[in-house]
Amino acid sequence: MIYSLLPKKFSGIKGVVKKAIKQRACPPLGAHVSTSQGIYHAWEHAAEIAATCMQVFTANQRQWSPKSSSDEDVKRFRDMRRQSAVKTVMSHDSYLINLCSPDAAVQTKSVKAFAEEIDRCLGLGVELLNFHPGSHKEKSAEWGLKTIAKQLDKMRPRYQGKGLTLLLETTAGQGTNLGWRFEQLAEILKLMKDSDDVGVCVDTCHIFAAGYDIRSQKAWEKTWQEFDQTIGLKRLKAFHLNDSKFGLSSRRDRHEEIGKGHIGLEAFRLLVNDARFSQLPMILETPCDLDGYGREIKLLRSLVGKAYIR
Ligand SMILES: [Zn+2]
Ligand SMILES: [Zn+2]
Repeated sequence: MIYSLLPKKFSGIKGVVKKAIKQRACPPLGAHVSTSQGIYHAWEHAAEIAATCMQVFTANQRQWSPKSSSDEDVKRFRDMRRQSAVKTVMSHDSYLINLCSPDAAVQTKSVKAFAEEIDRCLGLGVELLNFHPGSHKEKSAEWGLKTIAKQLDKMRPRYQGKGLTLLLETTAGQGTNLGWRFEQLAEILKLMKDSDDVGVCVDTCHIFAAGYDIRSQKAWEKTWQEFDQTIGLKRLKAFHLNDSKFGLSSRRDRHEEIGKGHIGLEAFRLLVNDARFSQLPMILETPCDLDGYGREIKLLRSLVGKAYIR
């Protein structure tokens, strides 16, 4: 934070001071970690990769009515947090949920599953809940956006003012998935009667696949200007860090390891050095095992304070 306020000429400070300042300037970095052996194991996985934020599934993401953690496990999860370097925890909702499914039965099931997800987050003390806005299928995009806004409004008493922020995730624009244009996310927020406690999570792979270039300083600035003019930067609460297996505007959602895809390392260097985002959790969802995440976090940290790559 302090580092980011210093003029450019101070970026060459050597030794301990530089290290200390650099550490402070480094944004929270982490990854999606496994909870398959019990939710509280997430803290151990996060510690292994020196993460300062993390994402979890609070229950099996491929079931409509997944088993929640036992009260004992929830307590353990909350207790273990005190010893962790992780400052922010984000949940990713189930892949089955579609808040704007044109199939009434699926929409009802989705709302119920989402409400249960909210409750699990509140129980665990998870502060961010990331979700894909929805897929309008045979209906119009406009109908889809309205339906999502309506459902989020209806659920408001469940989450508002309780320390949980819902995050609409930017999508790659595959099929009829909504949220690939910044305008669509802005529209959902605008259509809601009250959108306090609703923000946005930007996935670097998704926005790139959707057509927002971030590979150079110029493109970077243009994309954030567009984001600010449509959604507003104050809504931005978190990042998913992924490189992309496919090119700009491919509208295909295929994650790649950091620096090994079509986005390249420069975009990630720009990200970890952007003072506007230095407090926002950045979470890896790359096709890596835990060791791989550890290496990527190290790599990202090494980019803090670095000048242009390539
Ligand atoms: Zn993502
Ligand atoms: Zn994705």
